[in-house]
Amino acid sequence: MLLYLDIDGVMVPANSWRKPEILEDGFPAFSTMAIKSLNKIISNTSATIVLTTSHKHTYSLNEWCTIFNRRDISIQEIGRLPKNTNHLNRKDELIRWFNASRSKDKFIIIDDDKSLNALPKNLKEKLIQTSGSVGLTDYLADEALDKIQKLELTTN
Ligand SMILES: [Mg+2]
Repeated sequence: MLLYLDIDGVMVPANSWRKPEILEDGFPAFSTMAIKSLNKIISNTSATIVLTTSHKHTYSLNEWCTIFNRRDISIQEIGRLPKNTNHLNRKDELIRWFNASRSKDKFIIIDDDKSLNALPKNLKEKLIQTSGSVGLTDYLADEALDKIQKLELTTN
């Protein structure tokens, strides 16, 4: 199971009135609620995170593991989409990725990006959309677990 994960508006809520706290590694802190919620999904499914965030190539994959581990999300491996060299919006970036991908891995997408409302049905049904100012919540984690359970029951 793969978890296509955005960070801004998911792990780091986007408050226009308050800058997020920056930790000693130079990256913003994740919200406590988002950490708890993501851990709930990971511990119940052993899903692997694939970063979709625009920051995905700012750090090496090892550095990303360290960033997550320092924020109490214990992971040993992490993946990411290729560099978004054509500056596609998130929707087109994901569509291009899944069209090119031969992966048979099942997946869900967690993102706050509004462009994803226009995803084709087969991708949109795998989307957990956060509110950018709130981020990932316990309620949405349960929704994600529900989706994952249903996906794992399907054969294709
Ligand atoms: Mg975002």
